[in-house]
Amino acid sequence: MTDATVAALVDRVPADARDLITTLRGDGHDAFVVGGSVRDVLAGREPLDWDLTTDADPDRLRDLFPGARYDNRFGTVVVTRGGVEYEITTYRTERDYDDHRRPSRVAFGATLDEDLARRDFTVNAMAFGWAAADADDAPARLVDPHGGRADLDARVLRAVGDPDARFGEDALRMLRAVRLAADPGFSIDPATLAAIERHAPEAARLSGARVGAELGRLLVAPIPSVGLRPMRETGLLAATIPELAAQRGIPQAKIPGDDLWDHSLRTVDAAAAMRPPASPEDEAARDARLALVTAALLHDVGKPETFTDGHFHRHEATGAAIADAILGRLAVARGVRERVVRLVRHHMFSYEPAWSDAAVRRFIQRTGADLLDDLLDLRVADDIGSGLPVDGPMTAELRRRCRQQLDAQVPLRREDLAVDGNDVARALGIPPGPRLGRILDRLTERVVDDPGLNDRDGLLALARAIDTNLEDR
Ligand code: ATP
Ligand code: MG
Repeated sequence: MTDATVAALVDRVPADARDLITTLRGDGHDAFVVGGSVRDVLAGREPLDWDLTTDADPDRLRDLFPGARYDNRFGTVVVTRGGVEYEITTYRTERDYDDHRRPSRVAFGATLDEDLARRDFTVNAMAFGWAAADADDAPARLVDPHGGRADLDARVLRAVGDPDARFGEDALRMLRAVRLAADPGFSIDPATLAAIERHAPEAARLSGARVGAELGRLLVAPIPSVGLRPMRETGLLAATIPELAAQRGIPQAKIPGDDLWDHSLRTVDAAAAMRPPASPEDEAARDARLALVTAALLHDVGKPETFTDGHFHRHEATGAAIADAILGRLAVARGVRERVVRLVRHHMFSYEPAWSDAAVRRFIQRTGADLLDDLLDLRVADDIGSGLPVDGPMTAELRRRCRQQLDAQVPLRREDLAVDGNDVARALGIPPGPRLGRILDRLTERVVDDPGLNDRDGLLALARAIDTNLEDR
């Protein structure tokens, strides 16, 4: 690689990160940009974050960067500049292995080459920057001992060194492989892929949180099936989410030749295509997209268990419980997990144009107004995944009718009633409790049926009638 190209890379480094490099070099240390940042910048992409590595030990780093956060397990120092966090890591020969393998302490004093040799893939094992011995005005150098540049150009993911040894050290690297390969255009080198097939069962021992983090990164890829397909074919899916691996071979009559797993993959890709990837800074948008895509992946997860005589009896209820268990195991954020479970539970609605407006309101009430857009998007994705016409007219019509009701701000929940619990308790002379709760539920039902009933005096009269009825029984 020419010096001019490396110099161009340096120009891409944010000024704040360059200041950190200057500080390190001024103190007589190596300073290199390393890992995913180098990979991304060489691929012409904006890195998610800029990671630095150096021979300075963590104590020295804390002196050089007062106020930095220090993770003493791995000797990583996090410096915040301009609201952005930069990780500076001392050269090391151990990484964040699985719990039972986690080194009790990290030995420092390693070299850059030793550090790079313990990274997972050749494209992730490059660094550019300056060694301590370099003259002040020396051009930056690219350190690429494992042919990462060539592999990146060929879009090949290849383990550093002996793949069997590397996956034996840390099974998470296999999930990182399929996650990184979810980047369209990338493929996994055949020897690396074969080693993944041999070691896949070891992924069953990984902590759920580590698996969940990589899966989350896989699912926000532009075309998630590109990573999910090898995840199943190598046995990684069976080791980590056996409930989904069980979809293989379950019939799915809609597209000839497809089984249920094929249907899930098509649905996932359709869902991902409906929501353009969010910018990494916009966490809310990223989570919303992640929830929809995860729901697409899991929407039929209850089918293998409920499959009898060609039917899937109430698979959405079973599926919601299985999805909840999977996402709990993978330590998925509670907001995302709850949303996915609700989407799975409600995804089997069937709309008819003959529905009254009251039926539309009951539908909104049942699913929750906040879920509607995702639920209808999930249905469109499910239809696409079943080979049905894109955005069937039924979904579009239901969406329009729901919107109409919501725009009219019709009462849909207890809190929307023109009376509250206290009003009813006082008017009827009854204490708060289950009976009052039942009355309020009935009132809500009646008002959802007929929003015209939502006035205070009318509701109190209705509450009396309901109460008498309850007593009669
Ligand atoms: P992304 O761009 O999605 O963050 P990344 O490759 O930067 O991808 P990180 O988790 O940020 O992923 O890891 C930073 C770097 O640390 C990697 O590029 C790789 O060099 C190294 N690394 C991370 N996890 C492992 C691991 N389990 N084993 C070996 N090296 C790893
Ligand atoms: Mg990274």
